[in-house]
Amino acid sequence: MNLLPDVRVHRPATLEEAVRLKAASEGARFLAGGTDLLVNLRRGLGEPTALIDLTAVADLGAIRREGEALWVGAGVTLADLARHPDVPPALAEAALAVAGPTHRAAATLGGNLCQDTRCVFYNQSQWWRESNSFCLKKEGDKCQVVAKSDRCYATYHGDIAPALMVLDAEALLVGPDGARRVKVAELYRETGASHLTLAEGEVLAVVVLPPLPGWRAAYRKVRIRDAIDFPLAGVAGALKRNGDVIGGFRMAITGTNSAPLAVDAAELIGRPWDADAAAVLAQLLRKKASVLRTTIVGPAYRRRVIQGMARKLVDELWA
Ligand code: FAD
Ligand code: SF4
Repeated sequence: MNLLPDVRVHRPATLEEAVRLKAASEGARFLAGGTDLLVNLRRGLGEPTALIDLTAVADLGAIRREGEALWVGAGVTLADLARHPDVPPALAEAALAVAGPTHRAAATLGGNLCQDTRCVFYNQSQWWRESNSFCLKKEGDKCQVVAKSDRCYATYHGDIAPALMVLDAEALLVGPDGARRVKVAELYRETGASHLTLAEGEVLAVVVLPPLPGWRAAYRKVRIRDAIDFPLAGVAGALKRNGDVIGGFRMAITGTNSAPLAVDAAELIGRPWDADAAAVLAQLLRKKASVLRTTIVGPAYRRRVIQGMARKLVDELWA
């Protein structure tokens, strides 16, 4: 790892000031817990002109009720998120599955959702990448994973986005042109080098969780080291049972594509969860998860394990 480059750090106390500072300094980056960004900067992945530290923005650290909905500030740490009594179990599970305890004490919800995509050819030191002639995502002109491709396939490995997607959560974004609310899935596009849809200067302020009476939800992942690792593949599911048939169903995956993706399984609604339904779901997952050689574990295992995890997870939600 390199030393951090010399960079000016601003520490605004309000969101308005943070947005103003960002608009005034081209090339500046927001900094939250730093557990993703600082590691990348020490590998030469990014040269910000300034850092805008969000940890002093008081409003970002709150969890509160607004009517029936739960509003979670983007600056809430994952440790606090996991232990808050009002946080739905699936979201607490996903937060607890991120990295290790010392990371979760600093890492934030906003930083988790906005973390960079990853690739075994990208998350390396400068000298390693240089000795491999770099790659399309940074400083190079070809992709090492998909030869002859003109786009990057780096993978999104965040644990929390899929859980929020099945919980039907929305994100409140604040930028120089005002505030807007989007579904969490709309924060992403499937392009490894530019996977976030936030406009220039926008900050993620709050995640809004609606009440979901009658639904059960959960998150599962597989990783190399259970104590501290990104998902090789992760799956979140939410199910509402209507007697002997599925009344509502949502699923989202991570660790497979350049964005966390919702799996459209509308055809499962109105039928029981049985072997035929499980086969339909496996087929939908096969189509959705385009796993490539972006981690040290090969694609075949990750493709198969996501189907197995999804089936087990729905078994649990159905029981
Ligand atoms: P930061 O590093 O501060 O920021 C990350 C990115 O988000 C930066 O680009 C920053 O500009 C942007 N950002 C931060 N806050 C905002 C905001 N409010 N609005 C707009 N942009 C913002 N992640 C997982 O999901 N699962 C894992 O298992 C996992 N394991 C890890 C293991 C290790 C060893 C390490 C080093 C990291 C791991 N991570 C993992 C990545 C990281 O720790 C988490 O994603 C963490 O939640 C990032 O949050 P942060 O507050 O530290 O983000
Ligand atoms: Fe580089 Fe290709 Fe990996 Fe993207 S997918 S980081 S372009 S090697």
